[in-house]
Amino acid sequence: MAVTRQKLTLLGSTGSIGRSTLEVVSHGAERFSVVALTARSNLDTALVQAQQFRPRWLVAADADEAAQFDWSDLPKEAELRQGQEGIEKVASSPEIDTVVAAIVGSAGLRGTLAAVEAGKRVALANKETMVMAGSLVNQMAAASGATLLPVDSEHSAIFQALAAGRRQDVRRIILTASGGPFRNFTTPEMKNVTVAQALDHPTWDMGPKITIDSATMMNKALEIIEAHWLFGLEPDQIDVVIHPQSIVHSMVEYVDGSLVAQLSPPDMRLPIQYALSYPERWDSPAPRMDLTQPTQLDFEPPDFERFPAIPLGLEVARAGGTAGVVVNAADEAAVDMFLAGHLQFTEIVPACRTVLENHDFDPSPNLELLLYLDSWARQEINKWACTS
Ligand code: NAD
Ligand code: MG
Repeated sequence: MAVTRQKLTLLGSTGSIGRSTLEVVSHGAERFSVVALTARSNLDTALVQAQQFRPRWLVAADADEAAQFDWSDLPKEAELRQGQEGIEKVASSPEIDTVVAAIVGSAGLRGTLAAVEAGKRVALANKETMVMAGSLVNQMAAASGATLLPVDSEHSAIFQALAAGRRQDVRRIILTASGGPFRNFTTPEMKNVTVAQALDHPTWDMGPKITIDSATMMNKALEIIEAHWLFGLEPDQIDVVIHPQSIVHSMVEYVDGSLVAQLSPPDMRLPIQYALSYPERWDSPAPRMDLTQPTQLDFEPPDFERFPAIPLGLEVARAGGTAGVVVNAADEAAVDMFLAGHLQFTEIVPACRTVLENHDFDPSPNLELLLYLDSWARQEINKWACTS
């Protein structure tokens, strides 16, 4: 039986999630038609992707980079577009069904919002959208009929485990965290870690920003906030447990004490595919669990002293309003500074907290205020780093 092809826009096609998404597409080639790809850098990779997947549009996010690139090998049927406007156009085009939102950081916000506003099915990897503007996104989705499907592995696991019971019977969710490369480091040991050490994640192969966030556990802070908005849970219903093997991707605890979990080897192609196949399940290119081999699953509570990002994430989720956008932007700027060698690893989270505490909180911001605070928080981090 012929299947109707799902028409995809892939925002951030050259990144870690973008490339994994195209592997999912190649595996189920008869199910998809790639209509648009977007990329900021690595335009040579974007060009090869366009040659392979034959999209109608290729969007180069940075007009200057695009102008310097040799596009002569771009397939004739592909139209080149540029900049933020180009991204928003392909995210909202009537010609597409699904947007995979896989741009990193707050740069992903506007494209994701365009997709939500246009009522698309949105496979959401860009957690920053929910952290910055969760309330606004939920209002927009309710008005447009957009469906948000989590790609983040923990949120995909929660989404699947929530299918096991009624929402009013959920007691809490438990987000698992690998603990990153410094799980067993003391705070003094963490002080002098190098960029190379922080980029060496023990279980996941991801882009640089989320890899540093995993090492500080700011990634878990962002995921707490993301879960709060995605699933309508109170922050006090969200717990974190360290699980170094990254096999149990998260759990839901129901009122009777049952824990429902989703398990699989750590490979993003599975949650990406589930966001595209839902409510169906398809054969996947990701590896399977082999329980004929001895398998160990360890769990331990997180240490809030060594990883102050987790209590910070809970606080931000409780505060709502402008807290999310400020912490998100402060973290992005602080990670950039760490990567450039201008900030110590252990300064990243305190810097975010300082900027959060210094901002003028607003409980119900509009988009304009969110965008203003996004750039304000980055400038604050620059100052903070210079004076430290
Ligand atoms: P990445 O750095 O590997 O890729 C980012 C992509 O976004 C690239 O295609 C890049 O060209 C594009 N991009 C970067 N800046 C841009 C800008 N200013 N404008 C337009 N496009 C821009 O990142 P990633 O690891 O693939 O992460 C993407 C998103 O998915 C992030 O929000 C991350 O938190 C989330 N996520 C990633 C993973 C993972 O395994 N990598 C897991 C869960 C969630
Ligand atoms: Mg995650």
